[in-house]
Amino acid sequence: TKTIGEQVLIIGVGNTAMDCCRTSLRLGGKQVKVMARKPRGYFKASEWELDDAEEEQVEIVVNHSPREFVINDGQLVGMQFDVFEYHVDDDGKLQQELIGEEFFPCNDVILAIGQETAFPWIERDIGLDFDQWNQPVVDRATYQSTRAGVFFGGDAAFGPENIIWAVEHGHQAAISIHRHCQNEAIDDRLPFGMNLASTKMSIHEWSFSNDYEGANRRQMRHVDLKERFNQLNIEVEMGFSAEQTTIEVERCLNCDIQTVFTTDLCIECDACIDVCPVRCLTITENTDEPTLRAALTVPAQNLDQPLYVSAALPQTGRVMVKDENVCIHCSLCAERCPTGAWDMRKSTLLIPYAVDEKTAKWQQKTA
Ligand code: SF4
Ligand code: SF4
Repeated sequence: TKTIGEQVLIIGVGNTAMDCCRTSLRLGGKQVKVMARKPRGYFKASEWELDDAEEEQVEIVVNHSPREFVINDGQLVGMQFDVFEYHVDDDGKLQQELIGEEFFPCNDVILAIGQETAFPWIERDIGLDFDQWNQPVVDRATYQSTRAGVFFGGDAAFGPENIIWAVEHGHQAAISIHRHCQNEAIDDRLPFGMNLASTKMSIHEWSFSNDYEGANRRQMRHVDLKERFNQLNIEVEMGFSAEQTTIEVERCLNCDIQTVFTTDLCIECDACIDVCPVRCLTITENTDEPTLRAALTVPAQNLDQPLYVSAALPQTGRVMVKDENVCIHCSLCAERCPTGAWDMRKSTLLIPYAVDEKTAKWQQKTA
């Protein structure tokens, strides 16, 4: 649509709803309300998206659940909502209580809520199986359905996921389709690879910034509130200033730079233990995992994060333990280590694409 009524209701409060309400303002909406079923703490939209919408005078109405459209003489005139109160019960579950109803006049309603995939148009006797939720049965590795040559990806394959996963599904399905068209086995695929290379250039000099700044997210500069509505295509976010960018990049945890430990080089001088700013290194006797976790300089309480435990150290037979959960990849341990037992290495994840299946590119990448 190129225009919209003056009173607009947006149903739903995810990031799509934020796009809808702000676009409505640019298409002629004067009173734009986002109608949320639950309290603010349960919104799906990112906090900064909510801030940006409210900066533009979008009203966010909480605890209102849509009941019905109200239509007079074939014309939409508003929506009726159930009004709820919420409380958290003793089991920590959110409970709702109906306390009334309310009518909101409007010219247009935009449904910005999740959609379900539906495949009533696919015949059920063509060799394409569906599961108990009426979703196609799809192979997780090849993205092929139970009917050879038919592939699914994105939400249609495994339900709601984000767009990054949809792109990955597309890559993998492209490999399958390529192999299928070549009459080759679609599950015979190149493996994922990993390259590790030392980032050291010389002592005390690294090929990445290893400073770590725990600064809060910067507020990005925006086009002036009046000016931004002059044209539909004005991009509101102007990007970070040079100063903001400098601080933003220092928040990076350098997740592609890994600490790599060479047991035989360690002389147990404790220099890395002393210098680590987050105390995630410990040299200790090896023992069972619960005891080891509790014995660390800072006990490792996140049980989902495996510990790094070295082989027995040459001097005493103890082990070097690292809690990866709190490492900020600052590289101070590697910088301080007199023997190079700790090293920082850049890891590159190598993901095969369809083109790699037929060329020598994969061998070059993994060489
Ligand atoms: S990289 Fe930094 S935070 Fe991680 S173990 Fe080494 S000194 Fe500690
Ligand atoms: S600084 Fe190096 S040699 Fe010293 S304890 Fe740490 S890893 Fe071992």
